[in-house]
Amino acid sequence: MTFVYTVFFIEWEACKDFLRDIRFPSRSQIEIHVFHRKDADQNQLRNTIPDKKLYDDRRPIVIKHSSLTTFPKAVEDILVYYASSYDFSRFKKPDVYLVSGEGRRYEELAKILRKDKRVSAWVIDGKRTTLLDWLDANYVCKICKFIFDTAHEGVQHYEEYHMK
Ligand SMILES: [Zn+2]
Repeated sequence: MTFVYTVFFIEWEACKDFLRDIRFPSRSQIEIHVFHRKDADQNQLRNTIPDKKLYDDRRPIVIKHSSLTTFPKAVEDILVYYASSYDFSRFKKPDVYLVSGEGRRYEELAKILRKDKRVSAWVIDGKRTTLLDWLDANYVCKICKFIFDTAHEGVQHYEEYHMK
């Protein structure tokens, strides 16, 4: 089974722990966009978002986007704009997750993405779940908070470290 290209659009202020302490190896099938307020606490941002680069092309694994203004809906605005103008056609039927606390506005966005962009799009609760809950279980270790490149590596890791 191959891993479906997966794109996450995350409203950081609504779910600050969604990415906390998760480690990424060289995985290139996941793309993560974090949207945060212009006046977000920079230390907290750094502490909750891994800034490791992918081995292959030096692209950051997590791409941060700051709102343009400090108005209350500024982050929502930039997320909706960015996701709706994103070019998904580079990938074959990607999975798209809109991550926030709640927000009917994102439900509407998900509908638009499904209809206009022909992607599988869902709104998910980033407060009660983490990134690891939304990836194929064979690819992740929830104990070590690690994402593997292949299901084989994930299964091997589990047998080696957690079967005893
Ligand atoms: Zn583990």
